[in-house]
Amino acid sequence: MYSINKTLKDFSAAHRILKGYQGKCRHLHGHNYSVTVSLSADTLNQYDFVMDFDEVKTLLDNWVQVNWDHCILISEDDEALLAFAKADNQHHFVLPDNKNTSAECLAEFLFQQFRDMLATIDVINKSSLQLQAVEVAETAFSKACYQQ
Ligand SMILES: [Zn+2]
Repeated sequence: MYSINKTLKDFSAAHRILKGYQGKCRHLHGHNYSVTVSLSADTLNQYDFVMDFDEVKTLLDNWVQVNWDHCILISEDDEALLAFAKADNQHHFVLPDNKNTSAECLAEFLFQQFRDMLATIDVINKSSLQLQAVEVAETAFSKACYQQ
């Protein structure tokens, strides 16, 4: 099997960790996040690619930049932060299912989002293409990965 990894353009976002977490990350703070996607295929396309790196970038970078860059990532049950974001017209994104905006849950969300996007677009090699994993890094030393 062939696989490729693509690190997307960094995005900056604010978040905080709820559910009674007592660490310093319960306070609103930000990261310059980095996202890396892994794709695989049993067979290569006509150009001998799993998927064109440029195509990965165009599709997925765009979603991340539009939806999550300079954004407040908000857990669905963080009513106070959501009220502030709405009242002050702050760019925000509500993470569903009452999940904390941990790197683990951000990676899980992106995995599902990207898998759905890849399934609906007209991409060369679609029948063989599989999203393997999405990694979200809060720093160069702290990364979480979601894979199926
Ligand atoms: Zn954080």
